[in-house]
This record gives sequence, C-alpha cells and structure tokens, in this order.
Amino acid sequence: MTLPGAPFLARTGGELRLEGHPLADLARQFGTPLYVYSRAAMRAAAHAYQRALQGRPHLVCYAMKANSSLAVLQTFAQAGCGFDIVSGGELQRVLAATGDASRVVFSGVGKTRPEMRQALLAGVRCFNVESVGELERLNAEALALGRRAPVSLRVNPDVDAGTHPYISTGLKGNKFGIAHGEALAAYRLAAALPGLQVLGIDSHIGSQITQIEPFIDALDRLLDLVEAVEAAGIPLHHVDIGGGLGITYTDEQPPAADELVRRVLQRLDARGHGGRELLLEPGRSMVGNAGVLLTEVQYLKPGDAKNFCIVDAAMNDLMRPAMYEAWMAIEPCVQRAGPAPLWDVVGPVCESGDWLGRERALAVAPGDVLAVLSAGAYGMAMASNYNTRPRAAEVMVDGEAVYLIRARENAAALFSDERLIG
Ligand SMILES: *Cc1c(COP(=O)(O)O)cnc(C)c1O
Repeated sequence: MTLPGAPFLARTGGELRLEGHPLADLARQFGTPLYVYSRAAMRAAAHAYQRALQGRPHLVCYAMKANSSLAVLQTFAQAGCGFDIVSGGELQRVLAATGDASRVVFSGVGKTRPEMRQALLAGVRCFNVESVGELERLNAEALALGRRAPVSLRVNPDVDAGTHPYISTGLKGNKFGIAHGEALAAYRLAAALPGLQVLGIDSHIGSQITQIEPFIDALDRLLDLVEAVEAAGIPLHHVDIGGGLGITYTDEQPPAADELVRRVLQRLDARGHGGRELLLEPGRSMVGNAGVLLTEVQYLKPGDAKNFCIVDAAMNDLMRPAMYEAWMAIEPCVQRAGPAPLWDVVGPVCESGDWLGRERALAVAPGDVLAVLSAGAYGMAMASNYNTRPRAAEVMVDGEAVYLIRARENAAALFSDERLIG
C-alpha cells in the first residue's frame, strides 16, 4: 500500500518515518499530541505548481488558512509564493514570517474597516472583493488614506465542484462572491469609484476537488466575463482561479497540480488569453499530505457494541472528522504483531462527536503511538482550546534537521487574559 504523503512518508523496517525520521522517536522526544511536517513535501508541492507555470506570468498565493504556522509561511515565502489571506491577523502572520505584502491577495466576505486600512497601509497586491457593499466601503477607506485600493472581483461562477456542501463555495446558494449576472454592473461601479483600481477577476469554487472539469468550467465562466468587462472599456490584468485542489486521504485520485495547471493554461491559450497573468490560491494541496498528527494510546475499552481506543489527541486538535465526518488514515508508528480488531479511535473530550476514526483495524496497546495521516491542512489551523486543552506542539523536519516550530501551549497561559471579578 502506498501511504498518502509518500515518498516523504514511508514505512521502513516496520517504522513509520517522515523524511527518514522515525515518528515514534519524535513523539517520545516532543510529547503528544504532536503535529509533524515535512518541509521537503511542502517545497515539492509548491514547485509542482510553479514548474507548470514556468515561462508564464503567474503568482501562486498559498491560502494560508490551511496551515498558518510561521515556519510554514516562511517555507512558502522562500519558495517564491505569495499568500491568500482572509483576515488582518493572517496579514500580520505573513509579515512576521518574512512574507511580502505586495504578493498578498486579501479574500473573504466580511472584511472590516480596520482590516482594510491595515491591508492598504501594508500595500497588499489585491483585494478580492465579494460584494457591492464591500466595494463602496473599500473605496471610502482608500480615499480617506489618500490611496487607491487594487481590486479584483470574486465572482460566483455557479459551478458545482462536486465536493462536501460545507466546502463547496461556487454555487448560487453560497455566501461567497458576486453573482455572475451582477458582475458586469459591479465592475462598472468599481471602475467609476476614484478610490479603486480594477486589476483582475477571481473565483474560488470549493475545496477537496478531485476533478479538473469544475476548474475549467469556472475558468470559462470567468473568461466570458473578462471579455464582457473589457468590451465595456475596463481592462483586466489577471485571472485568479482560486484554490481547491484535493489530496489523497483514502482512495481519492485528484489530478496532480501540474496537470491541473497544464489544462488551465491550455484553456487560456485556446480562448486567446494566454498572455494574461494567472493567479492560484492553493491551500490544502500545498500542505495536506506534508503533515501527520501523532497521538499516544491511553486506554483500550473493548465493549459489546463497540471497541474504543482512547488516545490523547481530540477533536480540539483535529476537527475534520467531527466537523465533516472526514475519513483520515490512522497508522501505528511501530507495527505490532497480533490480532487487529476494529476500534473507534476517540479522544478525551466530553462530546460523542469526539472521534478521529471509526472501525479501524488496528493491533494496538496502551502507550503505542498512532499517526493520523494527511493532517497538514486544516488540522492545527482549526485547533481550539475546548476543554482547556493546550494546543499541540508542531515539529518541522527538513532533511537531517528537526525543528520545534511551535512549543506546546500551557494551561495557565490559556486563561492569562481572563479576570476574576469583585
Ligand atoms: C480556503 C480558500 C482557498 C484554499 O482552498 P484549498 O481547498 O485549501 O485549496 C483559496 N481561496 C480562498 C478564497 C479560500 O477561501
């Protein structure tokens, strides 16, 4: 069986290793729960996009909400990526990680005035504007600062990405973007507002997409608009097709990033838009298979109806199973002989929804370390402190080197901003 995360993740001599480092050893050294990432895997993911875009005007903006740890951002900044942000906090992180604001695109349906001012002063490359109300607010904020805000309109192309309803964003019923039919009028307004400078067009149709066709459909819808907008005398510089490319969690076979890019470029060429700058906003596909979550088995609780394997990681550390019923592979770090009955792998949080995997055949004993695979995206980034659980530590391996990139939180720090009364 090939592991998701191969070739950086591999089992040799019965031991699960990331870039050659035995994961059980890292768990012993740094404690659990522990996120471990492969820097080489992240670089390879970025290069797959960039290789296919070579010779074309382009910018790969890593959608940092997938994993916003500073060392991850630094890795992508060094690899030549820009960033797709969705909050002022994310902009602060980019700058703290040596990223460059002029390579940042700012997405999101609910940008506040302070966030707009912060991004204008930092000099972001583009605001991906999602409503007419936002255009007007941004115009006012830019004029008040004596600037022009660079904008791209996020258009809802109304295509079905064929993914989970919570992570599908390009259909009419979603809160995201400006309806395709209203976009031309919105462009006319944007071009007339003195505080705005129209730069491009943008869409993002969903996440964990495993086919190329929805991207091409969305691109076609965007290009129809580009042609209409330019015919109305408003030149557009770039086309941003968003992110959303899926990864392998179990048996999905998403296209490789370079295959997706090749098809997108072909379509741009075929429609006479080959010279246009192409922006992408990949998140999950840049980091998802680069990381694992390590957790130690605490108790085994066999029962009549179900067997429970209780581990020290929980829904607060990794929300995807509880939130989307997502299936993520669970592998013992060191293989053990003996029977492998079916276990529900659950955490200690006081919720029945607190599970990481159901009915997994595992030969385990208390003290064993398990790895939840493909946990590099929307893992740590969505972690919370529910049940006053300090968030996990994070480690990055890079060839021979092992770096602790985030120390484990401690409980006292979690409530240090709180006050007793009276
Ligand atoms: C979340 C998001 C992305 C990245 O999506 P992935 O599925 O992680 O690639 C890109 N653009 C926008 C606007 C997003 O909200």
